[in-house]
Amino acid sequence: MNKDIATPVRTKAILEKHGFSFKKSLGQNFLIDTNILNRIVDHANLTEESGAIEIGPGIGALTEQLLRRSKKVVAFEIDQRLLPILEETLAPYPNKKIIHQDVLKADVASIVAEEFAGIEDVMVVANLPYYVTTPIIMKLLEDKLPIRGIVCMLQKEVAERIAAKPGNKDYGSLSIAVQYYTEAETVMIVPKTVFVPQPNVDSAVIRLTVRETPRVSVKDEAFFFTVTRASFAQRRKTILNNLTSQLPSGKEKKEQILTSLSEANIEPTRRGETLSIEEFAVLSDALYPYFN
Ligand code: SAM
Repeated sequence: MNKDIATPVRTKAILEKHGFSFKKSLGQNFLIDTNILNRIVDHANLTEESGAIEIGPGIGALTEQLLRRSKKVVAFEIDQRLLPILEETLAPYPNKKIIHQDVLKADVASIVAEEFAGIEDVMVVANLPYYVTTPIIMKLLEDKLPIRGIVCMLQKEVAERIAAKPGNKDYGSLSIAVQYYTEAETVMIVPKTVFVPQPNVDSAVIRLTVRETPRVSVKDEAFFFTVTRASFAQRRKTILNNLTSQLPSGKEKKEQILTSLSEANIEPTRRGETLSIEEFAVLSDALYPYFN
């Protein structure tokens, strides 16, 4: 087997050889611990027939492990300077496609359809750039890609918000948006010492398993998300006050919200963080006719 990229010695040698300097603005914190990398890949449950999508391959630390344990890897890298480095570090592995694009601007759905034709099981596995964690996860989910799930490293604090359940201080519109599409769990807490350079925040790995159908069925998805965001606009306010201040103005607005809350069997004095996703679904369907 080829020597691992993700050791402190080899990573340093690669970076020095290419005169590479980290760009903090691109969230460049590279992994230098093969044990952690292997555990991340374990959580993706790949087989030799699987496809893997990676966001931000860096110098190829995770890419290499994915290439060894799947059929094909497609990786999106925004930083042009990393392309010749990846060409060299991943030279031993033919089953890869590195795409020089900002993943947020890429037509990921078409690329997945083209690159993974004939591959049934596709997972996203990534050590995400922390400055854009949430937009990347939401884009991958909203694009409704034909993937089994996402296993990714991110800030521990964001992982906690994503996986939080009602009643928890971290529960909010991000928890609901992600759990609407997936089953979310935190599978690892990762120390800062396995990165170079070390990030300022603690890290975690989450696994998001895409649901066959969304967790709840609603009249209008966009409106459901508007209602959930509105309900958490000010965490200390009641659901009635948040909805009244956030939903578009109308003469009977407060009465309409009160009627809808009563229809959904939700006390107006409750706070958004106590409502289950199912309750938000019933509430947004009750509000829908008044605000659409
Ligand atoms: N996968 C490597 C590892 O684990 O060592 C590097 C991970 S590093 C946290 C994040 C990577 O994402 C960097 O290589 C960075 O250049 C890249 N990146 C940042 N923003 C991106 C974007 N919008 N689209 C694609 N790649 C991006």
